[in-house]
Amino acid sequence: MSQLPLRAQLASALGRTAATLSRATGRGDGSVIGGRVGLMLEPDLLRKLAADRKLVLVSATNGKTTTTRLITSALQEFGDVATNAFGANMPAGHVSALASNKDAPYGVLEVDEKYLPEVLDTTDAGILCLMNLSRDQMDRAAEIWLLAQKWRRALAGRPVHVIANCDDPLVTWGASTAARVTWVAAGQRWREDSWCCPECGGPLDRSGFGNGSQGLTAAQMADTNWACRECTFRRPEPNWVLDGEYVTDPRGQHWRLDLQLPGQANRANAAMALAVAETLGLDPARALPRLRTVASVAGRYTTVERDGRSLRLLLAKNPAGWLEAFDVADPALPIILSVNAQGPDGRDTSWLWDVDYRILRGRPVLVTGERRLDLALRLTVAGVPFQLCDSFEQAVGLLAPGKIDVIANYTAFQQIRAEFGRAV
Ligand SMILES: [Zn+2]
Repeated sequence: MSQLPLRAQLASALGRTAATLSRATGRGDGSVIGGRVGLMLEPDLLRKLAADRKLVLVSATNGKTTTTRLITSALQEFGDVATNAFGANMPAGHVSALASNKDAPYGVLEVDEKYLPEVLDTTDAGILCLMNLSRDQMDRAAEIWLLAQKWRRALAGRPVHVIANCDDPLVTWGASTAARVTWVAAGQRWREDSWCCPECGGPLDRSGFGNGSQGLTAAQMADTNWACRECTFRRPEPNWVLDGEYVTDPRGQHWRLDLQLPGQANRANAAMALAVAETLGLDPARALPRLRTVASVAGRYTTVERDGRSLRLLLAKNPAGWLEAFDVADPALPIILSVNAQGPDGRDTSWLWDVDYRILRGRPVLVTGERRLDLALRLTVAGVPFQLCDSFEQAVGLLAPGKIDVIANYTAFQQIRAEFGRAV
């Protein structure tokens, strides 16, 4: 890329120094503090760092970090890629990611949903990937509708190419003001926030009707097609279709995903990544082998060993995330659930009532974390037998050696990783 102006170079260098100091003093990976220092010295630093790169922004309620990683892996086929691999997804994290890899011709940035309009405006990114929108901790549907409304305003009249999941009605609505959209039928597991039409408030019908279904199997059409009963808002015809283990590209060619990352949510993330890669000229034949190399992302899906027990770590931060984790968890294995309520988790855990835990019936369930009593009450009401544990270690000790699944929310997940080894 072209040389940065002197002031931006200085800001960028000082930001990197601050990041190094932050890491050296054990205050985290340094990506946020470094970016903050840089932005303080040069408020226009993000714009300058983003200029002259092919930039992809990735936003959603769930799957941002993983999809960012998948797209990054694919684009490494072309060369160096700057990315915020540690999930620091606000402007300070973006500055840090781009400053630490100034010469990379490509950038892939995970962006917090609320910051998307601002980051789009600042970076003028050419490609935007939008996957799903659902309530996050204490959010409610009305709040995510406002968010989608802000996306619509930000996208109107902007020459960005959007890759969006058309199985999510709210994402479809949020993306549909963009001049150019590639639609991916990537599925939608959590539907509690999309029973109503965002355009008119009417009910959304969910089963087989109308056109726009070419290329879909009957089962998939019944499962994912949607249309408003009262206005013209309906699912656009997809350019890419995910069907179980297979993705169909716009030419009708089928691709078996065969990922190391488990679960349908990750197959959806991979379908989005393939569509993004193709807009940059990378076809599935070259992108897919790279997606298959990704085995875990920031500790998610990692297996850690302790005293003959293999613990697979699944992160679930909100109701939709719990459904995705249930999809990955093995019904034949015991499962430990750990829920905290610190700052990043949200102090209010009433969202636990939005999750249907009955799928856990029949397997040994152990409950721990700061809010284990809240979770215990929820499981009691759902009729799921469980064992209450004072600590994660106690829960592990109560189970026989062998494989164990663990689902934890954000800080509980970080604690377990810190204690049981930071495999990445
Ligand atoms: Zn409608």
